[in-house]
Amino acid sequence: MGLFSKRELCPVCGGEVKGLFLTKIGDKKTLCKDCSKRISMNKKLLKTATPESIQEHLAYRKKNAEKYAALRWDIQYTDVPGLKFGVDAGAGFFYLVHDDLHDEDNPVVFSFDQLTGYELYRSSRRVDDADTPGDTALESTLSALSGIADLMKKEDEVKTDFFKLKLTVSDPYWADLEIKINFFVDSLYGSNGLPGFDRQLQSICQLFKHVIRKEPVSIF
Ligand SMILES: [Zn+2]
Repeated sequence: MGLFSKRELCPVCGGEVKGLFLTKIGDKKTLCKDCSKRISMNKKLLKTATPESIQEHLAYRKKNAEKYAALRWDIQYTDVPGLKFGVDAGAGFFYLVHDDLHDEDNPVVFSFDQLTGYELYRSSRRVDDADTPGDTALESTLSALSGIADLMKKEDEVKTDFFKLKLTVSDPYWADLEIKINFFVDSLYGSNGLPGFDRQLQSICQLFKHVIRKEPVSIF
């Protein structure tokens, strides 16, 4: 009896709160599994969220799901570790799925108009951004990257590294988006007959650059 028998109810939907990895909002209120699963917003916002603001957010997420279902995803990239990316170039939208966004069941959709900034880091070094000239990221990004990859590669050693993708988006829940891409160095350019993910990462980054510069988007 006592404290442990007291049923906690979700402050958003009134459902039972049980299970692991539940989301906490402001005032240390814990959400039920169902509400936790639907949320996609940055941690800072979560910390100050109220049951009312979460309700608004869930309505927004529902609209996002409708948008995702209605658009035509001409190109979808799935080779970059931990990332799924799709583009509807005609309508001018893209989506991102990544653990950091908690959006696997309902990919977050952004319009091209919302995107105003892009930066790519490898470890802590910035290797590309929207202002870096060059028609493709192949010239500006990977030539810089291949040198590092060679340096880091030693026989019989499994090396890991990461990219950080920073996007500035005019979105109420993901204004500053930061995605971390952890990878084995060997998997970047491919090895043992397996394709690398370098080309897809280039394509995705190049698309961001085109969008921000208001250039026609070419998909390759
Ligand atoms: Zn709930």
